[in-house]
Amino acid sequence: MSFQKLIFTIVLAGFLTACASNPVTGKRDMVFISTDQEIAIGEQNYLPAQQQQGGQYTVDPGLTRYVATVGAKLAAVSDRPELPYEFVVLNNDVPNAWAMPGGKIALNRGLLVHLEDEAQLAAVIGHEIVHAAARHGAQQQSQSILLNIGLAATAIAAQKQNKYGGAAVLAAGVGAQAWMARYSRSNETESDRYGIEYMVRAGYEPRAAVELQQTFVKLSEGRSSRWFDEFFASHPPSQSRVDANRAQAESLPSGARNKAAFDRAMAQLRRDSEAYKANADAMQALQKDDLSGALALANKAIAGQSKEGLFWQTKGQVLQKQGDKKGAEAAFAKTISHSPGLFSGHLYRGLVRTERGNNRGAESDLLNSRKYLGTVTASYHLGELARAKGDKTAARIYYSEAAQGEGDLAKSAQERLQQL
Ligand SMILES: [Zn+2]
Repeated sequence: MSFQKLIFTIVLAGFLTACASNPVTGKRDMVFISTDQEIAIGEQNYLPAQQQQGGQYTVDPGLTRYVATVGAKLAAVSDRPELPYEFVVLNNDVPNAWAMPGGKIALNRGLLVHLEDEAQLAAVIGHEIVHAAARHGAQQQSQSILLNIGLAATAIAAQKQNKYGGAAVLAAGVGAQAWMARYSRSNETESDRYGIEYMVRAGYEPRAAVELQQTFVKLSEGRSSRWFDEFFASHPPSQSRVDANRAQAESLPSGARNKAAFDRAMAQLRRDSEAYKANADAMQALQKDDLSGALALANKAIAGQSKEGLFWQTKGQVLQKQGDKKGAEAAFAKTISHSPGLFSGHLYRGLVRTERGNNRGAESDLLNSRKYLGTVTASYHLGELARAKGDKTAARIYYSEAAQGEGDLAKSAQERLQQL
């Protein structure tokens, strides 16, 4: 659906659903989005958002199953148990968690490693469930519409934030990140408060929510602005939130910690922490053009956990920059075999294959990458491949797609279109 059409539909529906009663607080809120639309928004944007943020953590699928089980327990005692909740662990270093409308929730492995037991995990998930159950995303977007900023602007801003260098994401529906927009301070307070209630209903120790806030305050103190931008801007930690959680928790009955179960579920990820650190260092070295240092670190990460597709992807990027195209192609092939459901392995190998003159292989890789996430890069290069084959019709379609995006490749695509 185009932005304009979506906005129109939402505004139209708004006259029917504005001022609905909030399912969590019982208060009346200005919300222009129906429950069906909320669910549709979550379903359309959940997978693209996962792709843009590293994809799912696949080395130990047992961890995702565990997180989903804890999530289901909390969702069942929430004020909207009927939402189609889903919970995934993303392969991302940043200590972040988010909820989309309709109950689509994600936790980064970079957040899980800072938690100590299942009750703290329940504090994170309970908080995110409230964002979905209390329709905070829908509220924020409804306010944007009222302010005449609109969804399109938010979606374009979200696109600009994309960090996959050289792989700007195409405008596919409303930008996924628009739905993880900044929540207001009152949204955060509400999520803390009712999240703790859900924890207690599910039998968890409410003091774990106090510890979680303390962990966030600590993390926000010593960290780079990049982390701050990503997570703490949308979930600002503060001593006052710690205090509010403590006051609430003290009036509530104690509950379970389930530390042993949490430790078992986290064992693999914790064992691999050195390897993830080496990979993050390798990416930094790569950005500073220290290629031999980056290669040594990528190899160290792989030696620690050879089943992590991300580590092979880092190695491939280093080799490509060193001019070893054959080696890079082999490394990206490893990424694809370990993480077949991630767009980037297919995209990177497709680009190397283009450079190596394997046009058929490149086309197949680029097409595969688009099954998971549309990018300007894939569209542009598919246009180039179609043009090389003399297929002007296909080339025109791909260039038009790429031209809708942002950046140099989008401009090149426009020039190609004019030439055709
Ligand atoms: Zn929040």
